[in-house]
Amino acid sequence: MRYRERLKHAGEAAEEAGLDAVLVTPSADLVYLTGYDPPPLERLTCLVVRPGLDPVLVVPQLEEPLATSSLEDPIELAAWSETDDPYALVASLVGRAQAVACSDRMWAVHLMGLRRSLRGAATRLASSILAPMRVVKDRDELHLLKRAARSADEVFHRIIEERLEGTTEAEVGERLGALLLELGHEEVGFTIVGSGPNAASPHHEPTDRGIRAGDGIVLDFGGALGRYRSDISRTIAVAKPSTELAHVHEVVREAQERAFGAIYPGVPAQEVDRAARQVIEQAGYGDRFIHRTGHGIGLEEHEDPYIVAGNDEVLTPGMCFSIEPGIYLEGELGARIEDIVAVTDNGARRLNTAPRELIVTR
Ligand code: ZN
Ligand code: ZN
Ligand code: ZN
Repeated sequence: MRYRERLKHAGEAAEEAGLDAVLVTPSADLVYLTGYDPPPLERLTCLVVRPGLDPVLVVPQLEEPLATSSLEDPIELAAWSETDDPYALVASLVGRAQAVACSDRMWAVHLMGLRRSLRGAATRLASSILAPMRVVKDRDELHLLKRAARSADEVFHRIIEERLEGTTEAEVGERLGALLLELGHEEVGFTIVGSGPNAASPHHEPTDRGIRAGDGIVLDFGGALGRYRSDISRTIAVAKPSTELAHVHEVVREAQERAFGAIYPGVPAQEVDRAARQVIEQAGYGDRFIHRTGHGIGLEEHEDPYIVAGNDEVLTPGMCFSIEPGIYLEGELGARIEDIVAVTDNGARRLNTAPRELIVTR
């Protein structure tokens, strides 16, 4: 039911934008519109959404049974056999076209094939049509994001009860992955464990570095639960935090709090970034906050809206994104605190509720 409505909406939005079709290959866009989630392959699978016409899903013949059994709301299928030209098939469905939109994650080989077959038609990014739909989460999506966040919170509660001193970053990373699965996730997306000086690299890959007393550790992990993503960061201290770590962590905590407090419907996304950045700048670490404050989340880990200077996109109830300021002192330490939040009618709600104060573990 909801897929039918989304497809209808996409067709209407395409019409308003003067597009003859929206072409969607395997990606979060396809999952959003149909619930169908095949792997992206060299064989073309492509949803064709046209204004005023029923959508058609072009599939390789051998995947027809998979598509039929996966689609909750049936869609007309057009199967192509191994010796057919799938791009010509899409072009025949689209007809004479002035402009089409192609999903942002479409492989270049498919985009080039489609452009060849749709000769002369202008191509645009499908995010112009689909991002405004996906950026505002409905009740079901909010529920799933909340469940994913709760599970990630629980993973954090579990990991801080374990003895970390004497283990390695890699072992903690594996443990986080195992806990995510144990606590309801169907997929582990990533596990960042940056201990001591390694915490100064925001996307640090866990190594065999042994964790020792006095270390700060940035933990940043997430995955998928019910296809919706989780993403949480916390910074903890082993045995006893250094004075500097305690101070930096407090600045980050304050910055994250201010960012949260800046979220209201009608506020441009960049204002949330500015609120966090101001606190860090005033503390003298402005040049050590080396990434944007946050990113939207949903079927993808990173999606619209981006909480970054220059983005004047206005916040709307139902938008979900991370707020994750950090400070990174190269060769020394790093700290980041990240929650997923949802914009409400009168502010925002945190989907993550794990403690944000500096937790000291064994
Ligand atoms: Zn990141
Ligand atoms: Zn994260
Ligand atoms: Zn994040």
